[in-house]
Amino acid sequence: METNIRAATNQSPLLAGHHVVDGDAALCDAVVRHGSAEVLKTLDELGRVAGTEEAREHGMLANRFPPEHVPYDRYGNRVDEVRFHPSWHWLMDHAVGYGLQAAPWVADDPHAHVRRAAGFLAWSQVEPGHACPISMTYAAIPALRADPALADVWTPALAAPHYDPGTRPVADKRGALAGMGMTEKQGGSDVRTNVTTATPTGDPGSYTLRGHKWFTSAPQNDVFLVLAQAPDGLTCFLVPRSLPDGSRNVFDIARLKDKLGNRSNASSELEFDGTLAHRLGEEGRGVRTIIEMVAATRLDTVLGSAALMRRSVAEATWHAAHRTAFGRLLVDQPLMTNVLADLAIESEAATALGLRLAAAVDRLDDPHEAALRRIALPLSKFWVCKRTPAHVAEALECLGGNGYAEESGMPLLFRESPLNSIWEGSGNVNALDVLRALTREPEVLDAWITEVGAARGVDPRLDRAIDGVLALLGDPGSLELSARRLAGSMAACLQGALLVRYAPPEVADAFCATRCDTAYHGTFGTLPAALGATTMRAIVDRATPTVE
Ligand SMILES: Cc1cc2nc3c(=O)[nH]c(=O)nc-3n(C[C@H](O)[C@H](O)[C@H](O)COP(=O)(O)OP(=O)(O)OC[C@H]3O[C@@H](n4cnc5c(N)ncnc54)[C@H](O)[C@@H]3O)c2cc1C
Repeated sequence: METNIRAATNQSPLLAGHHVVDGDAALCDAVVRHGSAEVLKTLDELGRVAGTEEAREHGMLANRFPPEHVPYDRYGNRVDEVRFHPSWHWLMDHAVGYGLQAAPWVADDPHAHVRRAAGFLAWSQVEPGHACPISMTYAAIPALRADPALADVWTPALAAPHYDPGTRPVADKRGALAGMGMTEKQGGSDVRTNVTTATPTGDPGSYTLRGHKWFTSAPQNDVFLVLAQAPDGLTCFLVPRSLPDGSRNVFDIARLKDKLGNRSNASSELEFDGTLAHRLGEEGRGVRTIIEMVAATRLDTVLGSAALMRRSVAEATWHAAHRTAFGRLLVDQPLMTNVLADLAIESEAATALGLRLAAAVDRLDDPHEAALRRIALPLSKFWVCKRTPAHVAEALECLGGNGYAEESGMPLLFRESPLNSIWEGSGNVNALDVLRALTREPEVLDAWITEVGAARGVDPRLDRAIDGVLALLGDPGSLELSARRLAGSMAACLQGALLVRYAPPEVADAFCATRCDTAYHGTFGTLPAALGATTMRAIVDRATPTVE
């Protein structure tokens, strides 16, 4: 019989039509654990839409047609608009409509942040770039509270579930979005070197800015928290794009960055010259004020990385469940089972940790939760974001050559994967922040010990890892050099403790056998053979999406 050279056989079908929330056992467990079954039900529409082919297509298009800077209008007026593909607006409209921006801060719901975290984790799997303005809007509220009058003006619009793009005064908008400008050319981590100046205008709380920002993402947003040097030192300011009379504030976009990934999102270089700004918090306390925003965005870097991992696992397990090589489905090839199971436990651990952090935000009045959040945010950001590029690369390889082709969607995830580790404090900066918290706030170590202590005595490998952290802390002289090891180990212990307490035994066992054991080999697919193929397969089945 003649071969049909155009036939496409043994190709995995497109992963679409699955429920991104309900099909993620680790996420559902975490939402019910830290919220309730009712909270989970509220994510039904979001999870269903996130799995549609339409959503997938919008995610791809928003990246294939990146935003363009429009410096002037047709008459020569400086406008500094950013023009986006319609798919960007579709993504934003859904994300805001689902209340993933600042809505939880005003919601009458004891689990508002857990709900939002789960929604953010699921929805960012559609497309990660638009999560940036969503995340900054979520994060602006705690910092805005430094000035109740400014918070009263902006919070209702930032929390409103209406996507209303366009540069207009906040009073004329059904919904608004926020951004932040800290990084300058001469320094991002060390913002004390900021050179942008703020000069009082004479009106109480009003200043004019002169200077620049080297990175400010989503410059099309409505309002920005910006650091600048006031007479009494580095200070946080609120900078609206539009002034109350409808005129534009001076907010010149020098250019948009040409980036490795995150291409759907506009990241700009800005110039200020006579830009009107309102002081937020006291002069000289800028870092103290904006750190509230940084902390909230750090939560989203963990959730965003967990989202990249989960989407990667979904694509890899789906592919392996449908593709045959050497006479067997890939998922039934023992070494591939090991790789997939290993990727799945990493993803589950990231999800469990991210949702645990969100639960702490829901209960900040509880001193244990507040202290845990203080220490667990930087160490989780360090560890989870740092693990993501290797994780996504390995998942991409599970699809073979198809994974390297743009239309698989995997290159988009891979290009995005290093970003969460860079912004909001790069890896070293977060590892050092863990040390800072341990030194200045003794209660944070107690919170970590209490949290991991709840799982003590169940798995000796986890117990040894916890002892290893305490031993490292016993040698304060070399702590700066070992800050990464410390942060990573503390995070792995937190993840291990969560999995030992709540995950299926095989997931916890595989995690402790690797991430908590000194014999860990560092690449995926090196789970110990002693776990057995059946156990590994059970882990893979737990992570594989299903389509009704
Ligand atoms: C796509 C994108 C979007 C961004 N959007 C925004 C935005 O909207 N707003 C904004 O303000 N910024 C934004 N940034 C900037 C980002 O937050 C900074 O790039 C980041 O904080 C690092 O600062 P830097 O680039 O100046 O690097 P540096 O501060 O120069 O750091 C370089 C390296 O040195 C390490 N390092 C720094 N200090 C120490 C130390 N004491 N010990 C050991 N190692 C150290 C860092 O970990 C890093 O690896 C964005 C960046 C990117 C890539």
